[in-house]
Amino acid sequence: MDKHACRACRGSAGHIVLDLGDQPACDYFPRRDDPGPDPVYPLQMWLCSSCGLAQLLADPTVPEEPRGTEPAALVSQAADAVQRVAAAGWLPEGGVVDEYGSPHGGSWLGLLAAQGLRSVGQAGQADVIVDCFGLMHAADQRAALAERAARMAPGGVLLLQYHALSTILSGGQWNALRHGHYAYYSTTALTGMLARAGLTPRTAWRFELYGGTVLLAATRTGGGPDDALRSMLADDAGIGVGDPGAFAGLQQDIQAHAKALHDWLAAERSSGRTVVGYGAASRAVALLCHARVDRLLLPAVIDASPAKQGLRMPGTDIPVAGPDQLAARRPDAVLLFVPDLLAEVRAAFPEVETGGGRWVDAATLGS
Ligand SMILES: [Zn+2]
Repeated sequence: MDKHACRACRGSAGHIVLDLGDQPACDYFPRRDDPGPDPVYPLQMWLCSSCGLAQLLADPTVPEEPRGTEPAALVSQAADAVQRVAAAGWLPEGGVVDEYGSPHGGSWLGLLAAQGLRSVGQAGQADVIVDCFGLMHAADQRAALAERAARMAPGGVLLLQYHALSTILSGGQWNALRHGHYAYYSTTALTGMLARAGLTPRTAWRFELYGGTVLLAATRTGGGPDDALRSMLADDAGIGVGDPGAFAGLQQDIQAHAKALHDWLAAERSSGRTVVGYGAASRAVALLCHARVDRLLLPAVIDASPAKQGLRMPGTDIPVAGPDQLAARRPDAVLLFVPDLLAEVRAAFPEVETGGGRWVDAATLGS
């Protein structure tokens, strides 16, 4: 294998800090009647010794069309974020905005239009460049950030939102690692990347989405980090986001988490209780594969996305089923793979709890 060059600084020194082994592509959902085996690819996180960017080492997969539905938690966080950014004075009245969106959806343009900004499409410069989980999907991080910086009008602001590496580390979120997501930003590493792109990070806001999501504002000129941002950098230093040793616990969490899930499902089954999953998300794929869960232990994963019906979970024989199966199967427990969905699914499917069932957060099993 050729030596890996950092996606941000091109450095070649670094460490594999998380290794999930060979995994199916998490957005390749085979048809239910496709017996497999599904193709698998190495899935490893590499931490650059030079710039500290945690990144996907190699990605031989080809992205599939996203089939997800937008969680209500994502929509309400976007509204909250735009309110907070506006209140802090970062949205110039009548200014031009452009957006680098995530392929998984979640545009902020409507919310920003309501704040008086104008969208002109992907042409020319903009006073506000919004990137909500977009940058992580770029294989060449340096080029992608340079492109965004070049699009900023004089005096413009770049608003970058990302799932914080500190959250992944402190929350044991090893299954955040997936093909197609090339970078896992610490605020510290991102600060360095921005500096090399000629930008100065100014402030940041933290949100509970995904257990800890950061929205950072950067400009070409102006002062340095404010207190909020400095406090996040201090948190990063405390966790050790640039230290390969700080990732050891994450690697250990894999087997512990997988075993806890398998044991819990086996115990539920031997007690005669019915369990189904909810949320055919990428992190469910990695968890179910590591825990060697099959349809005997988990007969279905419920997902609201019509595009996933008739398919099965990659790397397993577990079918994806529609929400109507919650009423039909009357499960004793619904294993939720996307904790941010909890409020939404409890409200949408009251029959689970009125029928005597309960929602169980898959991330908390064994922790
Ligand atoms: Zn680097």
